[in-house]
Amino acid sequence: DKRSTKPERWTRSTCVYCGVGCQMDVGSSNGRVVQVRPAASPVNRGHLCVKGRYAFEFNHAEDRVTTPLLRQDGKWHAVSWDEALDYTAGKLQEIAARDGSDAIGVLGSARATNEENYLAQKFARVVLRTNNVDCCARVCHTPSAKALKTMLGTGAATNSFDDIERTKLFLLCGCNPTENHPIVGARIKQAVRNGAQLIVIDPRRIELADYATLHLPVRIGQNIALFNAMAATIIDEGLLDHGFAADRVEGLAQFVEFIRDYAPEKVADACGIPADLIRSAARLYAKAKPAMCFHGLGVTEHTQGTEGVMTLINLALLTGNLGKAGAGINPLRGQNNVQGAAQMGCDPNSLTGAQSISEARTRFEAIWRAPVPQNRGLDLMAMMDAAAAGSFTALWAFGYDVYLSLANVNQTGKALEKLDLVIIQDLFMNQTARAFGHVFLPAASVFEKDGTFMNSDRRVQRVRQSVAPPGDTRPDWWIIQQLAARMGHASQFSFDSPQSIWNEVRSVWPAGAGLSYSRLERESINWPCPDESHSGTPFLHAGRFAIGQRASLACIPVMPTAEQRDANYPFMLTTGRTLTHFNAGTMTYRTPNTQLQASDVLDMATSDAQRLGFHDGEPVQLSSRYGSTILPLRLSEAIQPGELFTSFHHPDQLINCVTSPYRDRIVKSPEYKVTAVQVAHLPQN
Ligand code: SF4
Repeated sequence: DKRSTKPERWTRSTCVYCGVGCQMDVGSSNGRVVQVRPAASPVNRGHLCVKGRYAFEFNHAEDRVTTPLLRQDGKWHAVSWDEALDYTAGKLQEIAARDGSDAIGVLGSARATNEENYLAQKFARVVLRTNNVDCCARVCHTPSAKALKTMLGTGAATNSFDDIERTKLFLLCGCNPTENHPIVGARIKQAVRNGAQLIVIDPRRIELADYATLHLPVRIGQNIALFNAMAATIIDEGLLDHGFAADRVEGLAQFVEFIRDYAPEKVADACGIPADLIRSAARLYAKAKPAMCFHGLGVTEHTQGTEGVMTLINLALLTGNLGKAGAGINPLRGQNNVQGAAQMGCDPNSLTGAQSISEARTRFEAIWRAPVPQNRGLDLMAMMDAAAAGSFTALWAFGYDVYLSLANVNQTGKALEKLDLVIIQDLFMNQTARAFGHVFLPAASVFEKDGTFMNSDRRVQRVRQSVAPPGDTRPDWWIIQQLAARMGHASQFSFDSPQSIWNEVRSVWPAGAGLSYSRLERESINWPCPDESHSGTPFLHAGRFAIGQRASLACIPVMPTAEQRDANYPFMLTTGRTLTHFNAGTMTYRTPNTQLQASDVLDMATSDAQRLGFHDGEPVQLSSRYGSTILPLRLSEAIQPGELFTSFHHPDQLINCVTSPYRDRIVKSPEYKVTAVQVAHLPQN
């Protein structure tokens, strides 16, 4: 019985969904994944959430693409691997000769392993000779990585999840762990029950607000005003950690001068929070030591996303909440291996290990036996802009539905349709492939390959094959190597296993050198781990920052987003994720989780709905200046009047028709969190 639910074999692996990185035992029978059960790892301690535990049936969905496809005369045709690879290699060479190497780009993926992302960026740099390589971090936590790297020297979470039980206070900003990082959410809740305090800063009354000492429902788009006002209170009320500031902080005098303009009384109206409440939050955070901050996309996905994270780092610097257990700044990464994809070098401005191209290039060239391009590469958003302008003509995307995922779908579509070659490597015919693809390369899933993932707290963990890849599907690393060989680079892409790829990663990335597979068989380790006798680094910046002895405070003025309400668009929409589904829904909408939530819904404050005559469950037209979609309305007490919330998981509802074209001022991540919209009844037939 192919559908037997009794596993014949159990294989320890890592969850494919969020960046918590839970360990699981995957039960398989007759070549199918039939059960998943939690493992007793330091991360998840014997628990899994509804995604990790139950949402695995996508792996055997009937519409899984199991053979390479080429689009000819407007239709997809099944072809052999030789045919698909020869065609793809030929087209890439033709485009490089005609338009130049920088007309081509590669997108790595959080769905792919570290080893595969390493090969993807090596392919871009060595085979295509371009730094045009990026990944989905661009649309989520590149702002966090940039802010942390700029101010502290390492673009990653400062602490291990082990510190959840060590901290005295959680400052949660723009994240909803109950739904998006459920195992972390549960651990925070447990820590609060055991006496830790909790401040929740979020426009919505998320579930954890019920456990919080204080909830600050900041107006959408006003994070920086609020974080600056907390900093102003810390200075004003003498809550500065003078010893830490004297020893490890730069720029205090200038900051004190700057922050006067952000006294809580001056910004309370803009933030929508009484000055007293802002002051109370600042006092609580400054006095509880150690205090640990977790933040999410509610901080990063703004025109001042990078700067928003910088203002959070200011709070930690002022109060001495860095460089020790239970204190720090921790982006909750959305996807299983998004930290790893960027860390492996799927970033246009850095090589593996976030090493600067100009500083590390010579060392990489010696190991790769090939020149590394020096010019600045295009990030994902710049690739789209260049495509729209006609100067970028080919894109290879792994495990990433670009069309569905980027903000402002109409703008994305106009860019993608201009490309001469779109290569999609995925499990399913996603929306990007369906509308714009020329080549489809069928990939093995996480259950069908070996490798490693890197989770939110810098922990590297093994991914192990449970079942054979179906049909002609192949692991991403195999596909990249085949293509490289056809393009004249067989000798640099001749790895016989993920382990041998990883050993090359260890040779180019000093902070990962100690992470051998033999150790990872036994344990998970937080990098930096420079040699095999090193036990890993649960928290960063002890004694000195990676950037030096002192870190500088950042004076960040509020720059209002261009996205503003008016009479036509009177509501402010923010978007986010839910407990049952994941990102573009590619996996979870092919599982029974659909029975728990069949579609995205639009949350509106009950008072607004009553005022405007909307009813719970009514389908409504949600429109912005950029596009519109239809969603069922849900009356909610969690959202503030004048604000709306929806998730973006259902592929057909295409929420990103509505989201705006504005981007982070520094790293260009889309501003998914702020769009002025209107809501209308559907016309009666
Ligand atoms: Fe997977 Fe994240 Fe859920 Fe853990 S919390 S089971 S990593 S989705």
